[in-house]
Amino acid sequence: MSWTKDRKEILASDTWKKAPAKKDKKHFCGGKPGRFHKPEIVRRNENYALGKACSTAPEWKRVLFGSNWYCYHQEICSRCGKILRHYITEQECPDRASVAQR
Ligand SMILES: [Zn+2]
Ligand SMILES: [Zn+2]
Repeated sequence: MSWTKDRKEILASDTWKKAPAKKDKKHFCGGKPGRFHKPEIVRRNENYALGKACSTAPEWKRVLFGSNWYCYHQEICSRCGKILRHYITEQECPDRASVAQR
């Protein structure tokens, strides 16, 4: 089986994972090298999220997102406003934390 051999060679050669190591400005706040973003968890300001609280996910969302918690929060940089993560884990959700504290 020649294709198996070729595939092994490709995997072994390492070329596929050697992407050029360029300085990635988006990792830095305001494009300033060395300055990191200041993460802050905030509620999304999109229309669909306005006035809504994070809650237990309905069945279809559970299937779709694989999570029991539906969260309207995201992580942004409080300094430059860049969205760092579109979704946070349910453990990080401030609403979830208040529900858990009984
Ligand atoms: Zn920033
Ligand atoms: Zn949330």
